Parts: sequence; C-alpha cells; structure tokens
Amino acid sequence: MAQVLVVVESVEGAVTKPSLELLTLARRLGDPVAVVLGAGDVAPTLGQYGAGSVLTADDPAFGEFLVAPKADAVAAAVEKVQPAAVLLTSSPEGKEIAARLAVRLGSGLITDAVDVQPGDGGPGDGPLVTQSVFAGNWTVRSQVTHGTPVITVKANATSPEAAPVEPTTEPLGFTVSEASKGARIVKTEPKAVSGRPELTEAGIVVSGGRGTGGNFGPVEELADALGAAVGASRAAVDSGWYPHAYQVGQTGKTVSPQLYIAAGISGAIQHRAGMQTSKAIVAVNKDPEAPIFALADLGVVGDLHAVLPAVTEAVRQH
Ligand code: FAD
Repeated sequence: MAQVLVVVESVEGAVTKPSLELLTLARRLGDPVAVVLGAGDVAPTLGQYGAGSVLTADDPAFGEFLVAPKADAVAAAVEKVQPAAVLLTSSPEGKEIAARLAVRLGSGLITDAVDVQPGDGGPGDGPLVTQSVFAGNWTVRSQVTHGTPVITVKANATSPEAAPVEPTTEPLGFTVSEASKGARIVKTEPKAVSGRPELTEAGIVVSGGRGTGGNFGPVEELADALGAAVGASRAAVDSGWYPHAYQVGQTGKTVSPQLYIAAGISGAIQHRAGMQTSKAIVAVNKDPEAPIFALADLGVVGDLHAVLPAVTEAVRQH
C-alpha cells in the first residue's frame, strides 16, 4: 500500500489535534508515516491514531532560525519514504513548510483543504482535494498532477479517529543547509495563556458580538462549560471589548468547528466569511429578523444575557 507522509506538529510535547486529524485523513490514502519536528516522545500517541512508522527529526537550528530548517527535514523525509502524498496542517508554519517543500520537489501544492479523498485513478491520480473559497461561496475540487502532491489541511476537516498500531520509531538523518539559516529568531514571547483551545483548532467556538454590550462574561462562561474557544465579531473588537486575535471573519480568523454559537451577532457577510463552513451553527439574537438566522441550524430568539447563562447552567449539570 502507498505510504503517506504526515508532518506532525506538537506543542509542549503534546500532538496538536489538527495533526491527529491529518493521520485520520492519511489512512484514507494509504499507510501513514509520521515525521515529528522537534523534541518530545509523541510516538505512542501517533501509534494510537494509525502511524505505523514514526520518523523523529530534531536540530538546534529549529529553535534558532525561522521555518526553513524544518523544510530541510521534511524534504529528507520525502526522499526517504517516497510517499504518495505529503499532508501538513494549514497553520502558518505548516503552509510555509509546504510551500518550500513543493518548490524543492517541483510538485503541485494545494493549501487549505477541507477534505481529502483518494484519487479516481485518472491521470496523475493524486488525492482529490476539496477547498472552500471566496468566503465559503464556492467549493473547488482539485488534484495535483505533477510530482508528489503537497497538501495543507484546515483544522476540523475531520475528527481524529483512533486506529491503534505499534509504531516503529527511527531518527531521521538530514542536514540543515546554509541557505536555510537566512532568518534568525531574535525573541519569542509566549502569548497569555487562557486555558481555552486555539480559536482556529477548537471543536466548539462561542462568539460574541455587539449584542453583548461589552459584557463577554456569559460568552466566556458558556465557552468554558463546553471546553470551547471564544470568538468575537468585528463590532465587538472595534469597540475594544475583545482582542483582535479573536476576531472571526473576513479580516479576522476563519474557523470551521463542529459547533459555532453566535451570540448577539447579526450575521453580516464579512462575519459569515469566517464561520459559515462550521458543521452546526446556533444563533442567539433578540431580533427574529437577524440575517444570522438564515444560516443557523438552530436559532434562539432572546436576550443572550438570559439565554447563555441558562445554557451554561444546563451544560454544567450534565
Ligand atoms: P451588529 O451588526 O450591530 O449586530 C448586533 C446584533 O446583536 C443584532 O443582530 C442585534 O439584534 C443583536 N443583539 C443586540 N442585543 C442583544 C442581546 N441582548 N441579546 C441577543 N442579541 C442581541 N465583521 C466581522 O465580524 N468580522 C470581520 O472579519 C469583518 N471584516 C470586515 C471587513 C470589511 C472590509 C468590512 C467593511 C466590514 C467587516 N466586518 C467584519 C464588519 C461587518 O460588516 C459587521 O459590521 C459586523 O460583523 C457586525 O458585528 P455584530 O454582528 O456584532 O454587530
């Protein structure tokens, strides 16, 4: 069976959820081989999700220079494994590695996939990749026809499914080229820890808009009860009620969680651009004519300051 190379990201020794999703997608295409960039014993976790083979790659240059040395490691892994495809997450780092890798391999590159399926046996026979473009208004299916397909996949494209195997682990031999040492890291500052999942990776997002009146307490409490991330509309961000890093929409982040709860958000086209590919959408709005209800799978007409605490209480009791 063909092998599929999965580039694994980990944070503080824990494999990120989007990386586990990649392993689930890779199993549709062949046997997943994981390449782990950086230190940490994550092979047992990867084995739980079907990686029969794990390549570990670490080098001091990973911490000293920007992404290029990691692209050296992934290129070496491609040379060793000769995979049918390479899957990476659509994180900024994943996309940069993917771009550098595709240039080196002379391969086609597809970014921001929301689904990956086996090829149809036609010319090239790369995986069939689905993208959602133009603010989610068009769905595009495409296929790499030249070289080893390099594909980045958005978080929440699928759910991680366990498929336990006993992985073999092997250190990857590779060299960091001088050309990859062109941009040195001067300083890194950890962002404030909220304890909530990363907005673009979260399975559930609770977002607040102008209707919060600046009180995000009910939004945050519901998010914490559900283990969700918090998002915000631009109106809330522009009012200084929530940081821009949490803005969802055309000029903010794009999210595609299993469940998106919009509280006090009207549903302007620019907001929808960032959330309309969510699998299920719940809207809470006191105006029954609010456009968000046209998009919602479940709509609640009411004051969010009453509805959200009631839902939070119900969630806590279960
Ligand atoms: P409003 O449109 O004012 O809606 C507030 C809603 O809250 C109303 O529907 C109201 O009925 C409801 N409400 C009020 N009180 C309550 C209550 N107590 N309980 C329940 N409901 C209540 N917007 C984004 O969000 N993200 C973007 O990335 C973005 N990018 C933009 C880019 C451009 C170039 C432009 C021009 C605009 C952009 N916008 C963006 C702004 C967008 O057009 C809207 O202005 C914005 O999304 C409105 O935010 P809102 O829904 O919170 O506020």
